[in-house]
Formats: sequence, structure tokens, C-alpha cells
Amino acid sequence: MIACDCEVCTSTNKKDKRLRSSILVESSSTTLAVDTTPDFRYQMLRANVKRLDAIIFTHPHKDHIAGLDDVRAFNFFSGKPMDIFANEMTQEVIIREFPYAFADTKYPGVPEIRLNTIAFDEFTVGDIKVTPILVWHMKMPVLAFRFGKFTYVTDANRIDEDEKEKIRGSEVFVVNVLRKQSHVSHFSLGEAIDLVRELNIPVVYFTHISHQLGLHQDIEAELPANIHLAYDGLTITV
Ligand SMILES: [Zn+2]
Ligand SMILES: [Zn+2]
Repeated sequence: MIACDCEVCTSTNKKDKRLRSSILVESSSTTLAVDTTPDFRYQMLRANVKRLDAIIFTHPHKDHIAGLDDVRAFNFFSGKPMDIFANEMTQEVIIREFPYAFADTKYPGVPEIRLNTIAFDEFTVGDIKVTPILVWHMKMPVLAFRFGKFTYVTDANRIDEDEKEKIRGSEVFVVNVLRKQSHVSHFSLGEAIDLVRELNIPVVYFTHISHQLGLHQDIEAELPANIHLAYDGLTITV
């Protein structure tokens, strides 16, 4: 966190150095990103992403959409607009926050975006099948996504029973945990551990971690054997 001197923010462990939450999902022929954080440009550079087929959005909070302008580089090299998949609420905010990308007469070099609407049905991007899952961020509906045996839930503090069914059977589950203390719109550490036990998933990673959670190595040591803290650059093969 900017201007913070806490032990996490001053840690020299690379696993305590976190950019905003996002994932890249790759099959042999398709690459997609979930969300475009304010760090999107650097995240794409750091992961050496040369081609991006689509971006799927979870919700329109700034820390999940702010980096969208930088799809311009992918437009430049692919010669195509970027396919965006988002629900209507998120699309409305994207159009409001990046009006120049949707103007009738566009200034040269603006991001080229093609909007696709996520309803509640499965959809495919290239050869990747995506199942949307509705979760709650206090009162805001947020989309989580299941890709085969892998499920990603960010920015949630509650999941309805019928949506939990869509998560069950996953082999790897990534879910947001902010800190140990409770929070109005994010799972706390204890709440997330309870959820994971209920869903009985073999391998779990926590993400969207605040500096308030504590040092990576301390928290990792406290967690049950099948649960880990995610860290920037973590690669998972499913
Ligand atoms: Zn701090
Ligand atoms: Zn967030």
C-alpha cells in the first residue's frame, strides 16, 4: 500500500509484493485474462503475454477495470478489436469510464473493444469453456468463473447455495481473502477456510490479499495443508 511502513509493505520477500488481483487462463490455443487491473500493463509485460484472445470481467470496481486502456497494444499487434465479456452492469461502467473507446468518431489509437454480454449461461472463448457463477460482494453481484476443474472467485463475501453447486467438484479453487478481521464485502481468513472445508476442494489458493493479513510466510505456516496463499507470478496447471 502506498505510504505504508508495515512489516508486509516493507518485507523483502517477493511473495509479499502484490499487484492488484487478476489471472491469466491459457489453453494450448487460447489465452484470456480475468479483469484489467490498474496494474494490467505491467502484469502483461511481466508475464510476457504476446497474445490475448479475450478479457472476462468480474465486476466494475476500479481495481478490476482501470487498466483496460492498455489493450491498445494487443489491438496493434493482432489487428483486431479485443473481445470483452462482461455482464450489463459492468459494460455500463466500462462505457462510462472509457467513453473515447466507444465514441462515434474515434481518435486514432484508442482501444478497440468488442463487447460481449455474459448472461448466466456457459460460453466459450476459443477452446476454453467458461461457466459464470454469481457471488455477492456485499450487495453487488460479482461474477466468478469456472474453467473445467479450476474455479476463480474474487471480491465476494457470500455465495448462495445453488451457486456453490457450480463450484463443487473443482480440483483447484482460488478465492479472495482480505485479512483476518471481518469485512463488509470480502471473505475474512476464517470465513474463507470455513467455505473451503464446506466445498471440500483438494487444492485452494487465497488471493486479493490485503497487507493487513500478515506476512506470507507466517500466514502460510498457519494454514491447513491443502490451502495456500497465492502470490504474484504463481502458475497452476490443471
Ligand atoms: Zn502496509
Ligand atoms: Zn477488488
